[in-house]
Amino acid sequence: LKRPNVVILGAGYGGLMTAVNLQRTLGVNEANITLVNKHDYHYQSTWLHEGAAGTIHHDQIRIPIKDVIQSNKIDFVKDTVVEINPKEKKVKLENGELSYDYLVIGLGFEAETFGIKGLKEYAFSIANINSARLIREHIDYCFARYNNEPEEKRDELLTFVVGGAGFTGIEFLGELVNRIPQLCQEFDIDRKKVRLICVEAAPTPLPGFNQQLVEYAMDYLEQRGVEFKLGTIIKECSPEGIIVSKDDEVEEIKAKTVVWAAGVRGNSIVEKSGFETMRGRVKVEPDLRAPGYEDVFVVGDCALLINEEINRPYPPTAQIAIQMADTCAANIAALVRGKEEEIQKFVPNIRGTVCSLGHDDAMGIIFGNRKLYGTQAAIMKKIIDNRYLWKLGGLSLVLKKGKLKFF
Ligand code: FAD
Ligand code: NAD
Repeated sequence: LKRPNVVILGAGYGGLMTAVNLQRTLGVNEANITLVNKHDYHYQSTWLHEGAAGTIHHDQIRIPIKDVIQSNKIDFVKDTVVEINPKEKKVKLENGELSYDYLVIGLGFEAETFGIKGLKEYAFSIANINSARLIREHIDYCFARYNNEPEEKRDELLTFVVGGAGFTGIEFLGELVNRIPQLCQEFDIDRKKVRLICVEAAPTPLPGFNQQLVEYAMDYLEQRGVEFKLGTIIKECSPEGIIVSKDDEVEEIKAKTVVWAAGVRGNSIVEKSGFETMRGRVKVEPDLRAPGYEDVFVVGDCALLINEEINRPYPPTAQIAIQMADTCAANIAALVRGKEEEIQKFVPNIRGTVCSLGHDDAMGIIFGNRKLYGTQAAIMKKIIDNRYLWKLGGLSLVLKKGKLKFF
């Protein structure tokens, strides 16, 4: 009997966890499983802001894929997906082509720049290891250059703009307020010379989140020197900085560093491959299949799932991507074994949202309505981070890559 080809695209939370779940469920002779990823490592997107600020080394964020997959069960292909042809059941890679019987799309997110002029060219985004490393190097370089420039030309070197006060923007600022004093000391710069500006279009940071917790985060960051420009929209970005507008008043902020953290979309390959998408995300069926394609599953940030209670999409999160991987792997195992009747619906279990404010502070909600602040929340955040490593690779992975310093 022919073994079906299961091809998984992307080794992020959704893709890699699907692969690991399948390796635990299926026997060697039940299916040929291939995992394709651009790099030979998996990175934790949820830690990228720390790498970008330079508060942790990028090697702690990434995990060699060979450390978590068994090569006798999963064939790992380091390559870049170019296009999917769902009609012919083929995937075009930069260096080859794959045929599948079942496909899992887990290609993750990209920055959504909404067509704003100059953002793609001149702003940084916290999107992967390479872009995080670039931001860290660039920030260090700005500090290093400062004392080598004439006085009238150097203020913008120490002006750092973060676009968007969503969770990514707030968590990145939380890291920066810890890192900036260290850089000031290293490069003999007065902390007062550094400007950290956060531009947010909505009237409040973290729109829609609990007001008390938002105020906690805002006070924490303002006390450490962050200037919030709320109700202010980024209109344009250039090598000199950004143009913003508030109530029809336009202002130019000169800055050598603009980090765009104001929105994400699903990987554009999905849209290019002919799937119907909204902001690059496929509105999946309850069992995570792409509408019209019985053999294509979509997980993580490439999938759009509606929260029926409020009739709005669930936010794209790692929490949901990891849970989708459980359902997706179970459904593929059922199909491989010819047990269609065992196909499950995906039901997310939102355990909470915890937002870090640097290494030792945080805030968030857990278990539905319990609010957490300060050290307690920071510890909870590290437990959440370590829990994922445990699920992926057990104790040894927690000991290798985990956040074991709690205070
Ligand atoms: P990703 O994690 O984006 O992985 C996609 C994978 O596909 C990567 O390995 C990539 O290399 C690979 N890939 C991409 N394109 C190609 C290609 N063409 N060919 C081959 N491989 C490719 N969510 C939470 O729940 N909690 C948090 O605390 C949290 N914090 C966050 C902090 C930051 C700074 C950011 C940016 C996001 C955060 N999120 C958080 C959201 C979370 O990171 C995403 O929802 C999650 O990463 C989505 O997982 P994924 O598996 O869909 O894709
Ligand atoms: P987001 O879409 O959640 O937030 C983007 C913010 O940018 C919004 O507040 C929006 O009003 C603002 N914005 C948009 N256009 C703007 C403009 N032109 N000028 C100024 N502001 C503008 O994006 P994100 O923060 O990158 O988060 C992406 C996903 O990752 C979300 O689902 C989020 O929940 C998740 N995430 C979760 C955590 C956590 O749980 N700790 C951390 C980071 C990210």
